[in-house]
Amino acid sequence: MMNRQGRPSQAAENTSRTTGPTSTGHKALDLSEPLIFEQDRPGQTGVDFEDVPLSRSRLGGLDRDQSIGLPGLTESQVVRHYTRLSRKNYAIDMGMFPLGSCTMKHNPRLNEAMAGLPGFADIHPLQPTSTIQGALAVMDQLGDWLIELTGMPGVSLAPKAGAHGELCGLMTIRAALEARGDARSRVLVPESAHGTNPATAALCGYKVDSIPANDEGRVDLEALKEKLDDDVAAIMLTNPNTCGLFERDIVEIAELTHAAGAFFYCDGANFNAIVGKVRPGDLGIDAMHINLHKTFSTPHGGGGPGSGPVTFSEALVPYAPGPFVKQAGDALTLDEGFEPEAIGRMAAFHGQMGMFIRALTYMLSHGGDGLKQVAEDAVLNANYILSSLQDVMSPSFAGPCMHEALFDDKFLKDTGVSTLDFSKALIDEGFHPMTMYFPLVVQGAMLIEPTETESRESLDEFIHALRHLAQSASSGKSNSFVAAPQYAPVTRLDETQAARKPVLSYQPPEVDAAE
Ligand SMILES: *Cc1c(COP(=O)(O)O)cnc(C)c1O
Repeated sequence: MMNRQGRPSQAAENTSRTTGPTSTGHKALDLSEPLIFEQDRPGQTGVDFEDVPLSRSRLGGLDRDQSIGLPGLTESQVVRHYTRLSRKNYAIDMGMFPLGSCTMKHNPRLNEAMAGLPGFADIHPLQPTSTIQGALAVMDQLGDWLIELTGMPGVSLAPKAGAHGELCGLMTIRAALEARGDARSRVLVPESAHGTNPATAALCGYKVDSIPANDEGRVDLEALKEKLDDDVAAIMLTNPNTCGLFERDIVEIAELTHAAGAFFYCDGANFNAIVGKVRPGDLGIDAMHINLHKTFSTPHGGGGPGSGPVTFSEALVPYAPGPFVKQAGDALTLDEGFEPEAIGRMAAFHGQMGMFIRALTYMLSHGGDGLKQVAEDAVLNANYILSSLQDVMSPSFAGPCMHEALFDDKFLKDTGVSTLDFSKALIDEGFHPMTMYFPLVVQGAMLIEPTETESRESLDEFIHALRHLAQSASSGKSNSFVAAPQYAPVTRLDETQAARKPVLSYQPPEVDAAE
């Protein structure tokens, strides 16, 4: 592989890192540098210490008699290194993050101020409950809000993300079924479901039975009826579903599910589209996780932290995992709430405390009416995108959407441009790509979720970029897509190898003294 100067590139085959047309390899003020360990100059340090005498280890036998190999760097080198690295990360604080299904909304700074209060940030989960009454009050109040918003009578706060909430929900369903001596073997999951749904069902020992989508992108009710029998433990449904559409038959689905003696699990990752408008409990749902880090802000995207409380119907509450906050006289305390058949704890300690505070802050600062407006604005923004692009891109389904707009790759037919190329070109235009190739029910899917926190101006810029790209693709300019991204720190990577065998080291080009 050659870089643009015709020299063999330093990067191995799994990256196509180009150093660009400059002598330094930097791209304007986007600076590249070797790894921090490669910058090591032995003995160099940010602080001058007197020679530190060797000390005896108090653990015995572990005295250090050689260097531990930390690199020698000046303070400014370290500061610059990490600042440069941080600037290579794209973030919601830099611009729009239209990843469908992920709900990448702005995280209000008020959340951080509250979570940073010493009375919250400096406590330890092993402290006696008498010394953490404020933290327990936060958990109690958050639980009350979730019960109010879902119309479901019980909540387990402990699960640490959406997927963990699914596990909590299905384990609870399993416990309820076993308690009535009715172990069943199948779980019904629509084709369009997020991958965590079938994975959860399989992890709980169930056989996954897939329900096809109809040509409106919703669950095929007739197919569901055929599959529903007394061997089905649960159905796992997402509403609005991952095509961004409300499952109109949901009440009938709940009735059919209950008539078959099964439980109705709802993947609540898309709750932001209906919060304050619809109470899932009224639809007949038995268990639903709520991704606090999606619907109620709290930062995510860098792999965490998440928080996935699960709300339960009356039938499941006895089997739900603790701990629960309980009033005991004047004080709050933690109660395991175990029924003999209940599943026990999902995790050590009490849950993602920092996320609880951020989510509750978000709820209290919006109020009930503000949360309803969150849902309305999220749906409005997604429909603005859908209708502004429908003449140049190909919406997968007719009619308005909920909180996210789904397109397929029909508009790219015969252009030589794929969904992947199109998404990479969006990076050059200054936008993080949308979710690609998900949901699987749509060919070459592009799933766009703007969230309610994007302004009209930022939506217009995004729409402008997508219209431009769609028109370039259809006017035969496929070459510029295949090479994209051209302006990013690294160009097109092998998607698989880049994750499995990342090439992180950068070596500046050799300086040619004769130049
Ligand atoms: C995000 C998401 C999940 C998984 O939630 P995590 O918090 O990432 O574990 C499950 N289902 C859907 C539809 C999602 O969007």
